[in-house]
Amino acid sequence: MNGHTWEERWHPLREEWVIVAAHRQNRPWIGEQVGRRYETVPAYVPDCYLCPGNLRVGGARNAEYDSTFVFDNDHPSVGPDAPVDLEPPVAPYRNRPARGLARVVCYSPRHDLTLAELDVSEVDELLAVWQQQYRDLAARPEVEHVLVFENKGAVVGVSNPHPHCQIYATNFVFRTIEVEAAAAARHLADTGRVLFQDILAAERRDGRRILVENDVAMAFVPYFARYAYEVFVAPAATHASLAALSNDERRGLASVLLEVVIRFDNLWQMPFPYVMALHQAPTRGEHPGFHFHIEFHPPLRKPDLLKYLAGPEIGGGNFLSDTSPEEKAAELRAVPGVHYKHRS
Ligand SMILES: [Zn+2]
Ligand SMILES: [Zn+2]
Repeated sequence: MNGHTWEERWHPLREEWVIVAAHRQNRPWIGEQVGRRYETVPAYVPDCYLCPGNLRVGGARNAEYDSTFVFDNDHPSVGPDAPVDLEPPVAPYRNRPARGLARVVCYSPRHDLTLAELDVSEVDELLAVWQQQYRDLAARPEVEHVLVFENKGAVVGVSNPHPHCQIYATNFVFRTIEVEAAAAARHLADTGRVLFQDILAAERRDGRRILVENDVAMAFVPYFARYAYEVFVAPAATHASLAALSNDERRGLASVLLEVVIRFDNLWQMPFPYVMALHQAPTRGEHPGFHFHIEFHPPLRKPDLLKYLAGPEIGGGNFLSDTSPEEKAAELRAVPGVHYKHRS
């Protein structure tokens, strides 16, 4: 593996180019010790706003929950209380009420666990909660889209390690979803095929970037990865949202998802930071060819090295990656599928 990749790769879902310039000296970190100690996290923290039975800032008290726990965000970015009588700005500017709902889902009562340390039945139960949330929120008249996402780690701004994600049910469709839905519809109209199925087939034909696969789901570092350890997790069958998966498909997806986050943690034997997002079709209208999937965008390139968004990304709007997706997939494939904390 003397990876020397220097090319532009087309990202068919986002419809943009990714520059891959992986010709720098990038030594893999496999087998190397990360000389850092992580302080032990307690199972319960009295002033954590997510731990069972605790008081939250808004004055509400958490249930004494023993598996998952869902509540409305006390400081929502979109919410039923957002002002509706807005003063219109000067043209061409526009505004509108920030309607919708923001919720928090705790994965576990245990403050010291992460998604990677749950067992597969607990992950499956979490997916069932997300399914239920999607159905509930999609049924509300003001909701156009349901975004489920987890920000994990201090480098993505989360100082509280209590395992949780957020749900934004919004009166608009997030930009990336809008682009993906349009790309999927156009591909179907042009070719008669589902775009994401073509992506899955291309990944299977190459094979080097696949991390985990079973009968119903698959995880891979996409050919067009923008982040070093970017991973997509998707059901084999095309569904518009997680809510459309059968129980068998959900269980299979849970097992693939869990193995991905375990491999992330095993990479450097540390809790691996990421932004995880469920990409589901908009809740209204027809979205032919939309294939629900989960995307992981980990910000780290090495244990202490962030991917900085700079000139190409912020200035120009396209990503520059200086690592090869094939090499990064090989690193993730090489680590054990059992969590390092569970090995003795
Ligand atoms: Zn907690
Ligand atoms: Zn996507």
